[in-house]
Amino acid sequence: MRHREVEVEAEYVGRMETGADWREEIEALAAAESVDAGWFTAIGAVRAAEVWFYDQREQEYRAVEFDEPLEVAACVGNVSLLDGERFAHTHAVLSRENGQALAGHLDSARVFAGEVHLRAFAEPLERTHDERTDLDLWLND
Ligand code: ZN
Repeated sequence: MRHREVEVEAEYVGRMETGADWREEIEALAAAESVDAGWFTAIGAVRAAEVWFYDQREQEYRAVEFDEPLEVAACVGNVSLLDGERFAHTHAVLSRENGQALAGHLDSARVFAGEVHLRAFAEPLERTHDERTDLDLWLND
């Protein structure tokens, strides 16, 4: 495993705007506080969501759309720089009215309500292309 030490510079809490995009709200918080690297958790509810699954054999994302009210039972991710822009790599477990769980890489979702906790690191993290996975990963050479 590649690793490095990080220092927590600050922590923020936020409440997302109803009707906004879930991931963009996290990126907007990071932009507002100039956070180039961090780790976050969030909870809440959304009205619709697009979840991606990475097909490891084909090395491409497949999108699945859900157009229904969903609980964001758990959301975790990180903030880093991708092509010079702040990117919130966001994963979530969503639950349906009957309690059934859906999960994956959360690309977008329309916020009903959301609460986020962002832990900001002092040093930026940059994503670059990784040959073996065809993904943009951090801590590359
Ligand atoms: Zn992901």
